[in-house]
Amino acid sequence: MFLYEHCAVNQIVVQGMTNSSQSLFDRGMKVLVEGVSSASRGPATFGGAPRYMSHGAGARLYDVDGREYIDWMMAFGALPLGHAHPKVVETIAREAARGTHFATALEVEVEVAEMLVALLPHVEKVRFANTGTEAAMAAFRLARGHTGRRKIIKFEGHYHGWWDAVLVNTNPLPPTMLGHPNDPIRIPDSSGIPEEAWKDTIVVRWNDFDALERAMALHGRDAACVVTEGVMSNMGVIPPKPGYLNRMQELCRQHGALFYLDETVTGFRLAAGGCAELYGLSPDIVTYGKALGGGLPMAMIGGRAEVMAGLEWGKVLHFGTHNAGRLALHVTKVMLETMLADDQAGFAKIKDLGLKMAEAIRGVARASNRHGIVVQGVNSMFQVFFTDRPEIGDFRDFCAHVDRAKFRDFALRLMDKGVYMNPSATLHSLSSLAHTEADIAATAAAMAEVLEEMP
Ligand code: PMP
Repeated sequence: MFLYEHCAVNQIVVQGMTNSSQSLFDRGMKVLVEGVSSASRGPATFGGAPRYMSHGAGARLYDVDGREYIDWMMAFGALPLGHAHPKVVETIAREAARGTHFATALEVEVEVAEMLVALLPHVEKVRFANTGTEAAMAAFRLARGHTGRRKIIKFEGHYHGWWDAVLVNTNPLPPTMLGHPNDPIRIPDSSGIPEEAWKDTIVVRWNDFDALERAMALHGRDAACVVTEGVMSNMGVIPPKPGYLNRMQELCRQHGALFYLDETVTGFRLAAGGCAELYGLSPDIVTYGKALGGGLPMAMIGGRAEVMAGLEWGKVLHFGTHNAGRLALHVTKVMLETMLADDQAGFAKIKDLGLKMAEAIRGVARASNRHGIVVQGVNSMFQVFFTDRPEIGDFRDFCAHVDRAKFRDFALRLMDKGVYMNPSATLHSLSSLAHTEADIAATAAAMAEVLEEMP
């Protein structure tokens, strides 16, 4: 009996060990590249085994080792409602029982499109896709097809998915490699990208009025579009200078280039109408992803009917077996209904929580007597920069003045205390409907301890 019990205990221990993050990483390394399915989830970001997660509930994530985390990453922003929101769970169960995917015309497709067109004044027609990258690929092709022009003007440090033509200058670089701000050196962020793919891509310094004017004077009349993130979200969080995006829109109109606002991160996150609403913009093309699907893969391209008409009959081709997946559309509908209810109370709530979290971190930093901690945020998004500067205003500031190793140390120590933030300083944290003021207080307390411990 004793032996049996002993064995049983051992088995439990062995079972537990089999499922630890470390052992899953060891197994994963044999069959998956880096043990994961995206470089940003593996050792490149974590410096070793990432934490393998088993489930989520509300604002909490749980790993296979039984640890609990307050999740401030929220699937890179894909979860405005938090994890396993009861309405989402119920919707998926109900709809899955009626068939997961038809690849046909759907009622819910029309319903969600109607909701989006009613909500976004600059969007008259939409086309659904699955990911931000796919939507962006179609948007760039559409801009080129619509204008008959080839050039794309993009900004340093902005990411629009992993498509060849725009995967240039999206990663931090040593400042010596950036070149003159009037003429940034173009550097693709991956091997395997042929030069011809980005030969028509112009890279411009962001948040710099003079650089923008100069680039538009030089290239504006050959540009199919100028594409921008509304808030720079792939170098921490960097807001646009007052009037900067409006000037960009004006210059686009002057030169006949389409103004393409990439709302993949900011859409259904910073306001119901995204950055377009926040900064009073009326872009010609927008793309959305992440939050739109409420945790399921859903993205969209939207714009004026006249521009979107380019996609008719595949004149500008955009296909996809999984476009307008019915499960994801039903969850999108639930996300929109939930966030928009009571006069958009969901957006007000995540904004309030985000601003409070950012302020709480500033308080912790001040109390720690440590210098060089700057918190930047816009509504529900925020990031902590370890820097010698009072603020980080663009990609060049980020490259030269943000201590990314220190941030990683900070984030990994926080994980040990039950707070999950992505360890990459280029990313950011986000509040969701599931977070509470108690989560803010617990996070701030963990941060105070971490700052005390850090060298
Ligand atoms: N655009 C922006 C601004 C993004 O931040 C991202 C993803 N981080 C994308 C496009 C690509 O989206 P996805 O990862 O869904 O392909």
